[in-house]
Amino acid sequence: MSTFAKLGYWRVGGPMERFILAERVEELRSAMLDARGRGERFFVLGNGSNLLVPDHGLRGTTVRLAGALRAMAVVGEDDAAVDLRIGAGALNAVVLQRHLGKFAGLGPLAGVPGTVGGAVAMNAGTALGEIGGVLLRVEGLDREGRDVTIERADLPMRYREGGLPAGFVVTAAVFRLLREGAEVEQARVVEHLARRKATQPLDLPSCGSVFRNPVGAAAGQRIEAAGLKGWRCGGAQISEKHANFIVNLGDARASDVLACMRKAWDGVYEHSGVALVPEVHVVGEWDENEWPFVRSVG
Ligand SMILES: Cc1cc2nc3c(=O)[nH]c(=O)nc-3n(C[C@H](O)[C@H](O)[C@H](O)COP(=O)(O)OP(=O)(O)OC[C@H]3O[C@@H](n4cnc5c(N)ncnc54)[C@H](O)[C@@H]3O)c2cc1C
Repeated sequence: MSTFAKLGYWRVGGPMERFILAERVEELRSAMLDARGRGERFFVLGNGSNLLVPDHGLRGTTVRLAGALRAMAVVGEDDAAVDLRIGAGALNAVVLQRHLGKFAGLGPLAGVPGTVGGAVAMNAGTALGEIGGVLLRVEGLDREGRDVTIERADLPMRYREGGLPAGFVVTAAVFRLLREGAEVEQARVVEHLARRKATQPLDLPSCGSVFRNPVGAAAGQRIEAAGLKGWRCGGAQISEKHANFIVNLGDARASDVLACMRKAWDGVYEHSGVALVPEVHVVGEWDENEWPFVRSVG
């Protein structure tokens, strides 16, 4: 049985009851329909860079996309732009390695260690923009396993929310990228990555920013103002370098990470009356006492 801790960026989380690598849409569809037929949970995993899974693991079927579901191809072009179709399982880092400096538009994926499917599902973004800004359409399976294409205009994307219908699995996304401005974007990405390295604890396992930034002061500033920078629970710690990161110091359990999240949430609420909203997806079954403040996703 595969353990989530081996895949997820926090290096915590228990066994996945059934883990499948789907290399083609048909394999993905069968895995989805089989799971639904058994009446069990079906979960699509990207690169595990934004997920908290409990120590007792994930029930049901967990699928990861591979093979043809990581392919990239130009599907349209003119003098000014190219339409690039990318399989949802492709890693952002690989996509950038191939296309950064050639076409402009994928800069918002720089430093985001996920897959294209995860980026669309989360509307991933950075100071360089959001991926929804260059998305043309997504292809995928609805919860009944039917092929569906959704135009960007029909997706209610917001800050860190892809707006996908419930149960929708992205199999590919098409992005419109510009020929002009590619070198300028590449230079901005280099600067941006250097700034992140200086300000974020990238040497320890984490899932990046834990909470979305509320209006006004950023989540990290609020957690720091509540006096919680460096607070520890077991092997997890609210990072001393960036308070919106929770890091695994080596032997953390998922419950330690969650305890840090609760501490940060409670501390900010008491200190400034702001109810932070998690950016990380807390999936699987959690005890209401462990996770009382916001409903889990997925
Ligand atoms: C060091 C670090 C820095 C980070 N910095 C940023 C940042 O600057 N900006 C930012 O936005 N994020 C950041 N993140 C968070 C994370 O990388 C992004 O949210 C990323 O988009 C998640 O992608 P993933 O493939 O890892 O998805 P996962 O974490 O595996 O999954 C996240 C969610 O997406 C869903 N999902 C994944 N693939 C699909 C699919 N094919 N179809 C439908 N749903 C799918 C999952 O079911 C889950 O609900 C950072 C993380 C780390 C570790």
